Amino acid sequence: MTQAKGNGAGAGTDFDAVVVGAGVAGLYQLHKLREMGLKVQSIDAASDVGGTWYWNCYPGARVDSQSYIYQYWFSDELVNEWNWSERFPGQPETERYLNFVADKLDLRKDIRFNTRVTGAEWDEAAARWTIRTDKGDTLTAQFFISCAGMLSAPKVPPFPGHEKFKGIIAHTARYPREGIDLKGKRVGVVGTGATGIQVIQTVAKEAGELKVFQRTPQYAVPMRNPKYNDADRAQFKAKAHELENLVNHTFAGFDFDVLPESWYDLTPEQRRAKLEEIWADGSLSFWVGSFPEVLTDEKVGEEVSEWVREKIRARIDDPELAEKLVPYHYSFGTYRVPLENGFYDAFNQDNVELVEVKENPIECFTETGLKLASGEEYELDVVILATGFDAGTGALTRMDIHGRNGVSLTEEWSKDIRSTLGLQVSGFPNLFTVAGPLAPSTAFCNMTTCLQQQVDWVTDCIAYLRDKHAKSIEPTVEKQDEWVEHHDEVANATLLVRTNSWYTGANIEGKPRRLLSYIGGVGHYRQVCDDIKASGYQGFSIA
Ligand code: NAP
Repeated sequence: MTQAKGNGAGAGTDFDAVVVGAGVAGLYQLHKLREMGLKVQSIDAASDVGGTWYWNCYPGARVDSQSYIYQYWFSDELVNEWNWSERFPGQPETERYLNFVADKLDLRKDIRFNTRVTGAEWDEAAARWTIRTDKGDTLTAQFFISCAGMLSAPKVPPFPGHEKFKGIIAHTARYPREGIDLKGKRVGVVGTGATGIQVIQTVAKEAGELKVFQRTPQYAVPMRNPKYNDADRAQFKAKAHELENLVNHTFAGFDFDVLPESWYDLTPEQRRAKLEEIWADGSLSFWVGSFPEVLTDEKVGEEVSEWVREKIRARIDDPELAEKLVPYHYSFGTYRVPLENGFYDAFNQDNVELVEVKENPIECFTETGLKLASGEEYELDVVILATGFDAGTGALTRMDIHGRNGVSLTEEWSKDIRSTLGLQVSGFPNLFTVAGPLAPSTAFCNMTTCLQQQVDWVTDCIAYLRDKHAKSIEPTVEKQDEWVEHHDEVANATLLVRTNSWYTGANIEGKPRRLLSYIGGVGHYRQVCDDIKASGYQGFSIA
């Protein structure tokens, strides 16, 4: 992997903008603001660019958006020079892509690596942010822009004893970059979300013994991942502008949309044929390119869930085991749908054992492994924690941000998670929260589509303020209330709010419940953002 080629920390302490994060959003934000002539400092805790694709270097990590739409559109040069090797590239290739972009645009000179923001306060008199880092630096900036990611604050599970365990413990989002030799080892994987599934199907081929600690089974969809040749790539490059326009207006920012036909207009045979057709595509289209009723109508949700259960059962040799691997207590698509590539087949191998920990939870680490509430012990050399994230809000609440009158964002969001379009928060002037909660970018989007749209919005907003010689912008309380109310109305009409997962904050004890992602459609969200810009930021206070 590419190593950091410099550490842009020599540029003083006072900036027009400080950007946190050097992943997909942060790199683009730095580029756009620099292009406008702003003095920008980016900060990232990692030792190099990549964000999610830097940290999540666990075995089997892979993008599950199609590569030809998981890219930047703003530069024909970037589009034409980069060559994706397959439909769903692995983490190393995706990380290489972001390094390629950083090199091309010479971004590293303005990024402080190995540095974490530990606090930020709004200075009302100066109309600027004061930002502190764990390196003891204090910076100031007119604009403070978090591009710190919606899945970047790892959740360490609530069972004690880490320090006792004599083996290796690795959270997937903090996996050692040099890897861990798992050959022939006794490996435990805790968690069977999208990440755990990728780990399990990969590690099963290598480990001596693999114990899978499952609390909630998933409806995973088989991934179809063809390699690309020059002709394929040429075809995607030729239609890049068309693809860009398409993804910006679909339900979830992909190059497919929700099916135009209603479930109820088709016969049972026609429905099954349609399901088979989108299943065969081997992508997330089975989820966000399916019948509109799947996520809103209990009866349709159950029929589709049972259809998927049948697919899963057919993959497992032992019918009793199969029943443990199919979900029953939530509806298909209401927990982020994982794509799999051999996950179910792994359970037909002799070296893989499923350990159910819903009724009999993991109690603690011991010196030699993990112990369940029943007293049963599992001896392990390596424990991989695929236990997820404090999603949407975690990256921001861990930064200790204080807005007007010293109000703490962490405290505010510990009571109720509110934002305006996931982009700004009332009471926090000039703070922009790219991938913040209550926008499609929290989870219901091909991330590159939504992040580019949000960065463009932030950039245009800053350009507008500078044009007007204005010092600050923030949403009014009324504007924020209006957005939160609309967000909730859309969310509450879906089945998603009934399922406990990170989507609703249910995976973090005490976190206020609310669907974290806006689910009214990427195209619609874009329109709302565009309308605000066109109106001269109506509903926002500009000073
Ligand atoms: P996740 O979906 O939150 O899954 C965490 C898993 O850990 C769940 O199975 C959870 O069980 C389990 N868990 C948590 N605490 C536990 C405990 N104390 N004991 C036993 N099990 C425990 O997290 P994730 O799999 O990291 O995925 C997060 C998101 O990252 C995905 O939904 C997706 O958006 C993104 N992702 C994307 C890609 C990609 O290719 N683009 C790949 C991987 C992940 P419960 O469900 O019962 O809580």
